[in-house]
Amino acid sequence: MADSCLLAKLRGLVGEAGLISDTDAMDPHLHDWRGRYRGAARCVVKPASTPELAQVVALLAREGVPMVPQAGNTGLVGGATPDASGNAVVINVSRMRRVRKVDAANNSIMVEAGCTLREVQDAAEAAGRLFPLSLAAEGSCEIGGNLSTNAGGVHVLRYGNARDLTLGLEVVLPDGRTWDGLRGLRKDNTGYDLKHLFLGAEGTLGIISAAVLKLFPRPRASAVAWLGVGNAAAAVDLLGRTAFELVVKNIPGVRPPLAGGHPWAVLVEASESLAGFDLGAELEESLMAEIESGLVADAAIARSLSQARDFWRLRESISEAQKIEGFSIKHDVSVPVSLIPNFLDRADAALEAAFPGVRIVAFGHVGDGNLHYNLSNPLGEANAELIGRSSDANRIVHDIVAELGGSISAEHGIGQLKRTELLRYKSEVEMEVMRTIKSALDPWGLMNPGKVL
Ligand SMILES: Cc1cc2nc3c(=O)[nH]c(=O)nc-3n(C[C@H](O)[C@H](O)[C@H](O)COP(=O)(O)OP(=O)(O)OC[C@H]3O[C@@H](n4cnc5c(N)ncnc54)[C@H](O)[C@@H]3O)c2cc1C
Repeated sequence: MADSCLLAKLRGLVGEAGLISDTDAMDPHLHDWRGRYRGAARCVVKPASTPELAQVVALLAREGVPMVPQAGNTGLVGGATPDASGNAVVINVSRMRRVRKVDAANNSIMVEAGCTLREVQDAAEAAGRLFPLSLAAEGSCEIGGNLSTNAGGVHVLRYGNARDLTLGLEVVLPDGRTWDGLRGLRKDNTGYDLKHLFLGAEGTLGIISAAVLKLFPRPRASAVAWLGVGNAAAAVDLLGRTAFELVVKNIPGVRPPLAGGHPWAVLVEASESLAGFDLGAELEESLMAEIESGLVADAAIARSLSQARDFWRLRESISEAQKIEGFSIKHDVSVPVSLIPNFLDRADAALEAAFPGVRIVAFGHVGDGNLHYNLSNPLGEANAELIGRSSDANRIVHDIVAELGGSISAEHGIGQLKRTELLRYKSEVEMEVMRTIKSALDPWGLMNPGKVL
């Protein structure tokens, strides 16, 4: 079908407000947040409802047009960026943003895929509940993207990742049929649990149009502290979240809470849903004991909500700060928590030997065994050389991760970035099962081609 004819049909399905074909207007949808990937597309379609989405997908499937699902476009592995051929249509779900139902007694919320994460948090709060998924991009990323990447973030230790927070899904399959699995059940053993196929599938098996998510009681009290510690083993002992202070200094407008240089910083948040606890006092008492034992070198407890927010802002601004600094080689890895110090010792030493002068910025979620382990060189020319040797650096880091029984993608996914790495680290059996599932649901390979598999 000629492009003009296809565009006219799509416009007929989603209206003028749901179709972007102008080159400039399409631009934000054709590259990723980091600016690492850029593609082209026939157009960007923005359906406003599940029936519209289903009709769009059915039309494109009939016409054999590749489709690239997209939500907030904050993903970090190029999963929502089309390839350069210009054959694909980007299907962006941002206009599907209704909160369909809040069931406070069932501790659940039903939302459409284009609700931003913050809108879901706000809707939960308005009902006196907590939706605990939280990450620095929460004002822009959307539930469809969060579920498709099985997003992690800062509360995984206590509440789990996006997969753990999902009760039900509605999905438009690659042929345009809609699977309505919007159940708000915590127990349902009626055969295969299909939702898990689509969670973390990065849009390769279908387009998530809506979800039922778990809510929780809101904590009645919380206490936040910023700690300075001498090494990663101490951070593991404390089971908090870590940030390497090199990045902290780059964040405009926020002073690091502790004077003096500590090799590692740990951000701790304790919360309690029951009334009657003086959490601040309890945290202070236990930190005093840790300082006396020598595990913690120094600590600052937030004395106000705004100070607690400042501490968190430091943590959440790390990705932005690194973006300002220029290119770095990024790794998003996980290992068993107990092996974090082992990983850091081995990877630091191997990289320093291979790339003398390399600067390693490691931060992440110690409680989840997840580290963002980023490499750069402070000198421009040397940095260009380092970036040019990314695959050598990846090999060093990922081989050590694999030897320790870890994962080469803890929370950002595979997308385009790690497709070839996946082949190296997944077994042939795992790859074969994944390919079988893909071809059962998407035999024509039209749904987000070139991603994951
Ligand atoms: C500053 C910053 C901080 C971040 N921090 C974290 C963090 O702490 N933890 C974390 O896990 N991630 C983090 N991320 C990565 C990113 O925010 C998450 O991956 C997020 O879940 C992506 O959501 P999105 O709406 O932007 O999805 P997009 O980028 O639009 O899409 C991501 C993937 O999902 C697919 N997709 C999108 N919508 C759908 C749908 N409706 N159905 C099927 N497939 C779909 C896309 O094709 C793509 O493969 C961060 C990103 C930034 C920029």
